[in-house]
Amino acid sequence: MRIREGRIENIGTLRAESGEPLIDANGSALLPSLADHHIHLFALAARMASINCGPPEINNQPELIEALNAESPQAGWLRGVGYHESVAGLIDRRWLDSYGPERPIRIQHRGGRLWVLNTRGIDYLGQHCDGNFPVGMNEDSGHLFDEDAWLRTVTGKRPPDLSNVSQRLASYGVSAVTDMTPQNDIRVAELLIQQQIEGGLRQDVLMAGTLYPESALPISDKPSSSLRVGPFKIHLHEARLPEFDVLCDMIHKSHLAQRPIAVHCVTEIELVFTLAALQETGTLAGDRIEHASVTPPQLLQQMKALGVLVVTQPNFILERGDQYLEDVDARDLSSLYRCESFFKSGIRLAGGTDAPFGQPDPWLAISAAVNRKTFKGQIVNSAEALSPEQAVELFMGDIESPGEPRVIAVGEPADLCLLDCRWGTARTALTSNRVRATWCGGKLIYNRVD
Ligand SMILES: [Zn+2]
Repeated sequence: MRIREGRIENIGTLRAESGEPLIDANGSALLPSLADHHIHLFALAARMASINCGPPEINNQPELIEALNAESPQAGWLRGVGYHESVAGLIDRRWLDSYGPERPIRIQHRGGRLWVLNTRGIDYLGQHCDGNFPVGMNEDSGHLFDEDAWLRTVTGKRPPDLSNVSQRLASYGVSAVTDMTPQNDIRVAELLIQQQIEGGLRQDVLMAGTLYPESALPISDKPSSSLRVGPFKIHLHEARLPEFDVLCDMIHKSHLAQRPIAVHCVTEIELVFTLAALQETGTLAGDRIEHASVTPPQLLQQMKALGVLVVTQPNFILERGDQYLEDVDARDLSSLYRCESFFKSGIRLAGGTDAPFGQPDPWLAISAAVNRKTFKGQIVNSAEALSPEQAVELFMGDIESPGEPRVIAVGEPADLCLLDCRWGTARTALTSNRVRATWCGGKLIYNRVD
């Protein structure tokens, strides 16, 4: 295969021209590169730069103290996440001052609303707000409750750098992502474009999010960026659903702007509500259901008729399956994270990891879609298992048309993933360890040194 100007120019018996870089694939499988159709890039970068402070990694006080002090001493914040009081009780400022390293520390409780700060952390924040702490700050205990917006304005001078995230994804064979963060707007688009131009972010990006006006995107004058406009993300919560008319109006506005919608549906009620709204408004090509965690059989026909696309996270079977088997109603278990039923019903299906809420390695999802195994080895809903080929193809659609696997052919963009073995071997143990090289638009963005 010859790659030129970002595309596959030729496939066959070719001779390298002088000076042309050459890679010997050694008979191994060359696949279309992977696309993660549901991810949150900046949240993943923040997570990768944080320490885990709760179960299953950290389970008691000595483990937490070791984790906090494991990093070499450096300036700047130490950010911990996932704390749970089963580790060391309700920790506070004094606890962190006694056991943590000497730098500003903030640790987030697993519930997401409480931060615990040490004295250096409180001092840092105090300097940056001239001592005007918000009501949620208790300086004595170091507890900061429900003040994330304030915390961001005080600490978040710079958005996280995405180069580590990009590097990691490239090593999995990922050349394109859809960022599904509901708050994404023009400002976030500018940050993404800037990191693409500077070279830290090397994947193509489709940015879902708010109904930002496409015309305001600073794209046309920056040809080295490859940000594309994605669906309008609607985040439903069963406990406080909007009025039905309000949802219909949101969908209508989005469709008028030629933007498909992407609706977060993790419960049966959220799915029923969304499908009813789409029934009312009509659909636009590209309308999608995120997660479809619980899909009762009687909804499959309606989903097929509406032509919606489902973006699923089979990695949740691995990562959360043991919890599901405990918590989920027995009646709902057979409706949980379906895969095969969507195929059989003629519903387009694509995959995303939802990182950092899931592991960012799509091969974990691909493997779980095949074996339906939880972390502890239990099986969830084996009737929904896919073949290795179906599973890998969940991640092989273009970001603008998920669920339609790309093919390797002359004239196609050179978005490729080279494995270190034949497919016949890779399909028996699906893992990212097999990825040897990744190309995005003809550019080699990952090359493993064997
Ligand atoms: Zn998500």
